[in-house]
Amino acid sequence: MKAAVYRGPHNIKVEQVPEPKVKGNRVLVHFKAGSICGTDMHLYRGDWRWMKKGRILGHDAWGTRDDTGERVVMVPIVNCGHCYYCLRGLPTYCLKGKFYGLTRDGFFVESKAMLPRSLIPIPSNVSDEEAAVVEPVALALRVLDFMKPNLGDWLTIIGQGAIGLLMTQVAQLKGCRVIAVDLEDYRLELSQKYGADAVINAKKENVIKTVRKLTKIGSDLVIEAAGTKGTVEQTPFLVKKTGKVALVGESKGYLNLEDADEALFFTIYISPVEYPSAVELIARKLVDVKGLITHRFKLDDFEKALETADTPTEKPLKVIITE
Ligand SMILES: [Zn+2]
Ligand SMILES: [Zn+2]
Repeated sequence: MKAAVYRGPHNIKVEQVPEPKVKGNRVLVHFKAGSICGTDMHLYRGDWRWMKKGRILGHDAWGTRDDTGERVVMVPIVNCGHCYYCLRGLPTYCLKGKFYGLTRDGFFVESKAMLPRSLIPIPSNVSDEEAAVVEPVALALRVLDFMKPNLGDWLTIIGQGAIGLLMTQVAQLKGCRVIAVDLEDYRLELSQKYGADAVINAKKENVIKTVRKLTKIGSDLVIEAAGTKGTVEQTPFLVKKTGKVALVGESKGYLNLEDADEALFFTIYISPVEYPSAVELIARKLVDVKGLITHRFKLDDFEKALETADTPTEKPLKVIITE
């Protein structure tokens, strides 16, 4: 059967791999669709080189159960249930955790043996394409839950790629006033469509000055979702004293906290916990993932999909992979 295999930066190939062994209570899931994530792009570009060569990529996908035929979303983290973090309800940081698509073979493969507890049924009113974009919704939920915004809080979101745009959407549900920041007007138009109260094109405007002008004392909350050192370093100048900053895209950078007294900074990249709520949010049409899908490719054309996702003139947001 076919799989998208990591051989190194700019070297990800569709190869033949052995069929999975279905041991114990595992069930076979047949891949139907998934999406390429920023993490996959970091690996593709060679920003991160710790990935084992020969590893199958993919951590945001769904398929059909071989035993029941049911459509199910596959959760990419399997936790042990009894380590320090698991006992504290933090499976993301399980000391024995397995992360499909990173530390274990991922989902961009024709079929995969999965534990039933890692499978979330997809409601009938969620389309095949929508079900391919669950991970960033779960992350947006986690970040906003963590920030606990008050109604009317200013939230500045740097970066309006797929993740940033989902943060913008979830922030509306939480009653925030969103200031969306990006370098591309086509993305900021989507931010407006999704309800952002203000948009800033960082190529044309001074982000810190504009945010200060809008919020008077600084943004109550800030999310860094652009994934650059420069934008990480900007966050202390955007947040108000005692505010909160989530670093979602990148965590490296020098934080000058001179004017960010009592502000809280935290990083967060993935959350398996919010998957059921994320699927429910999509089903209830409270978030729109469909509008973020810009390109579609077959698993056979995985390399072309990565190239497209890496070409800014293609204006990629979410690139979908189908069987
Ligand atoms: Zn991801
Ligand atoms: Zn554990």
